[in-house]
Amino acid sequence: MKYQLVNVEQHELLAKGICERVGSAEAFHKHGLDKNEEVIDAKMADHDDAMALVLESLTSGPAKAIDSLDEIDAVGHRIVQGGKYFDRSVLIDDDVIQKIDELAELAPLHNKAALMGINACLKHMPDVPMVAVFDTSFFQTLPPKAYMYPLPYELYEKYAIRKYGAHGTSHRYISERAAVVLDEPLDELKLITCHLGNGCSMSAIDHGVAVDTSMGLTPLDGLMMGTRCGAVDPAIVPFIMDHEGLSTSEVNDLMNKKSGLLGISGISNDLRSVRDASEKGDERAMLAYDMYSNSVKKYIGQYIAVMGGVDAIVLTAGVGENCEKMRRMIFTGLQPLGIILDEEKNRQRGFEREISADSSQVKIIIIPTNEEYMIARDTYEIVHEQMRVDGAVFDEEPALA
Ligand code: AMP
Repeated sequence: MKYQLVNVEQHELLAKGICERVGSAEAFHKHGLDKNEEVIDAKMADHDDAMALVLESLTSGPAKAIDSLDEIDAVGHRIVQGGKYFDRSVLIDDDVIQKIDELAELAPLHNKAALMGINACLKHMPDVPMVAVFDTSFFQTLPPKAYMYPLPYELYEKYAIRKYGAHGTSHRYISERAAVVLDEPLDELKLITCHLGNGCSMSAIDHGVAVDTSMGLTPLDGLMMGTRCGAVDPAIVPFIMDHEGLSTSEVNDLMNKKSGLLGISGISNDLRSVRDASEKGDERAMLAYDMYSNSVKKYIGQYIAVMGGVDAIVLTAGVGENCEKMRRMIFTGLQPLGIILDEEKNRQRGFEREISADSSQVKIIIIPTNEEYMIARDTYEIVHEQMRVDGAVFDEEPALA
């Protein structure tokens, strides 16, 4: 469970932290900003316990950020699955809670944990407004031809089986920032956004509107990832189940946790380890590296076709932001599509930056993602709007940059 305490108006990060391995004997809690970060071994049976620890660390101890919980004006929660119900962030009420619960079938681990976080906040801060920010809502603009699967239509009607996408908050953030970096209005741009980390997804964003994305009903679809296989021939699933005698949960586990970079290399899901092994001549590590870059390349081609062109390709997350070698492999050979990487700019480190050659028709941009900022901003805007509706009086209009 990750969290940040943010002063949105001042653009100030006051505290951040993470509770890891919640529910296991090795649970620990990291809290504080870089200079005063502390790591605490702490028992956390569930997310309710974790939230109680977080609230305690915010208000007491060496890295406390505030004197009392009264100083917290609102809480924003990241929710993985918003299904067809939510095409934007919303103020949380009983109906929203009930829908998040109903949708847990599509994201069992994530939505249930998020509900525990919401309930824990309700318990400790009953009067503080809360906002739900959905990972799927950015993709509710996809047209039916992109979100439907060519399965019997009744399955869509009966179970709402369709593409929902994921990482939407990240794609929304990097597309907005890309427009700023390019100094062009977002609604005049065709963008391909690539979130390449341990989880990987890509989106086609046409004039500010998401028209396709690589993750599907679940975050297993699409690109090859750290431990997830991404799209494979669906006939492979019953084949492995028959031949290996696997149950549905075992085959699910195999595709989610034992595949991708880890499955092919047999070394790690971490691209750095795979890269090191490939540079020492390990053939399976080389193959994993090749497959990962090829998977991204193929989606670039698809999305250029879907949008009838592209103005910029935007990269983010651990691999997209940091791995110069992977970026080189992805863009090698795309010159006929007007996409040319500048080798020197690709080597340089930095924050938001362009790494395409001056002669490239298509810009290539790196934007470090900031999902927490988007959650804080949506929360600020929605709660502020609600206060306006409720007739709250402000001394002066708060400014949100
Ligand atoms: P994320 O899920 O965004 O945290 O990204 C994790 C992935 O980014 C892992 O596969 C890491 O190996 C990879 N990564 C992080 N830093 C680097 C780096 N400097 N060079 C190559 N890969 C990196």
